[in-house]
Amino acid sequence: MSAFDYDLFVIGGGSGGVRAARVAAGETGAKVALAEEDRYGGTCVIRGCVPKKLMVFASEYRDMPATARAYGWDIADGQFDWTAFRTKLNTELDRLEEVYRKLLKGSGVETFDARATLKDAHTVKLSTGEEKTAKHILIATGGRPQRPDMPNAHLGMVSDDIFHLDKLPKSVLIVGGGYIACEFACILHGLGVKVTQFYRGAQILRGFDDEARGLIADAMKGRGIDLHTGTTIVEMHCVGTPEADAMGEAPVDDVQYGQPEQEEIGSGPVRVKATNGTIRDFDAVFFATGRVPNSDDLGLEALGIEPGRNGAIEVDEYSQTKVPSVYAIGDVTNRVNLTPVAIREGMAFVETVFKGNPTPVDHELIPSAVFTQPEMGTVGLTEEQAAEQEEIEVYCTSFRPMQMAFVDAPDRVLMKLIVSKANRTVLGCHIVAPGAGEMIQLAGIAVKMGATKEDFDRTVAVHPTMSEEIVTMRNPARTR
Ligand code: NDP
Repeated sequence: MSAFDYDLFVIGGGSGGVRAARVAAGETGAKVALAEEDRYGGTCVIRGCVPKKLMVFASEYRDMPATARAYGWDIADGQFDWTAFRTKLNTELDRLEEVYRKLLKGSGVETFDARATLKDAHTVKLSTGEEKTAKHILIATGGRPQRPDMPNAHLGMVSDDIFHLDKLPKSVLIVGGGYIACEFACILHGLGVKVTQFYRGAQILRGFDDEARGLIADAMKGRGIDLHTGTTIVEMHCVGTPEADAMGEAPVDDVQYGQPEQEEIGSGPVRVKATNGTIRDFDAVFFATGRVPNSDDLGLEALGIEPGRNGAIEVDEYSQTKVPSVYAIGDVTNRVNLTPVAIREGMAFVETVFKGNPTPVDHELIPSAVFTQPEMGTVGLTEEQAAEQEEIEVYCTSFRPMQMAFVDAPDRVLMKLIVSKANRTVLGCHIVAPGAGEMIQLAGIAVKMGATKEDFDRTVAVHPTMSEEIVTMRNPARTR
């Protein structure tokens, strides 16, 4: 009989926590409990990947009537009904949350709809007042969006707010140039919102392959997104307040309605002064300026676990903190903040702690996608990173895909392989194309297996497709 109430207590019911809890309980017979203070499914299911992807699908229909007409269909443009979509979205999220609850129940995990904090190395305190002991505690509390540190930043919304809007803004200023900023710039543009984007750096999607990010920036501008690089907000106030009046007048074609008397979130429109000196009014401002780990007020400091840079819980390759009974996985550790990575970390934790098979988390060669329009799929090193490391050959091709060339649309796709000159290994693969997320999952297997350029060449093309170009590039575009 164990001295503890549970073998494992998981704090956080997102992708990583739920997977670890149900695999530990279901596959090893461990006695497991999980506490979640909000909705089951966490960021990915409730306010991230899933609702975002459904919004991507919704937004992609905007151009379809025009394309269909060019293919001979007699079809008219339509109007997007946000209320109808949001109602259906909420129903779907309710369904998925229920699936998560059922999965936990079906695996024998006891759940607490409460906030949990650590009292000591083996005790969890719940907001209900109860205390539970466990041999192991797993922190999987995820992260949250952060606003920039500037006056009136509370006037801007963050990604969590998007899914709850009563109506879509007529115009929005998106601040940031990362995944969330670029994805929502494309989504909101596709849903009919007039989108302006400010990014403080020289080019959006910092960290991705330069050529790929350049093509996406061009495509976004080509679609009508008013993207300004090297630009950020220096001052913002609600339109109609004396402070906004003192900033000067915005151009008349900017959105102006509603005259709030005090500054509140979402009470827009908001008058913004940019670093380039322009004054503009926007119906809404959306900060996509990064995320921070949810490590506050968890009781970590009392245990001697000092959150590191940005509040991340520091762990070793087995996701163990410096307190041996306490582990942490997912975005709260700020390693690679992606759902499938949190799930992998959860599985590796169970393997290590409950199956007696020490399994370090493999963070090498993780494929990922950015759901802009067009999408980007990427795995491995960028051209710039690879060239720093060794001599490389760059194989790339950019072309108008057949489907779009037929209707004379300007969209271009990019297929790119970065190859080691020394041993011919494909060090990186970057695809910008409709469906690039689907393509890179499969290319990722080859790259993870250590495929050489010749392995790609030996593979017969699937014709006619866009992705066949990935196996038909004969000569390097350049060597570095
Ligand atoms: P990112 O870290 O990707 O981007 C943050 C952006 O905000 C950067 O462009 C950054 O600029 C800018 N920024 C930060 N602080 C400020 C500031 N004070 N003023 C102006 N600009 C600022 O974060 P996201 O929020 O976009 O995404 C968080 C994480 O979520 C991602 O890293 C990713 O792991 C995950 N995610 C994955 C998705 C996917 O797989 N498709 C989709 C969405 C999120 P700079 O570049 O100069 O630092």
